[in-house]
Amino acid sequence: MSSSGIQRPKADPEAARRSIARLMDIYRDMSQVADKVATRRCPYKDARSRCTAKFECKNQHFIAGKPEEPAVCAGSDKLDYRLAWEQE
Ligand code: SF4
Repeated sequence: MSSSGIQRPKADPEAARRSIARLMDIYRDMSQVADKVATRRCPYKDARSRCTAKFECKNQHFIAGKPEEPAVCAGSDKLDYRLAWEQE
């Protein structure tokens, strides 16, 4: 019991080390998946598959009658998106 009268559980350094190691494994796995997806998914595609690019791209599909709406990205995350970008 501490001097304040509150009982604290005993620290288990080995259990803490195992928990941290497990967390690091989980974060490493997440990072590897994110790195892999980042090589296929265009960085201009938002969560709703709308295009946020300020340049022309062959994958942009504008909705008829809604010119103010951002283009829908018609690209596949399985193909290299950079080939669709219009370059000068
Ligand atoms: S692939 Fe083209 S249309 Fe799709 S988000 Fe990227 S820039 Fe926009």
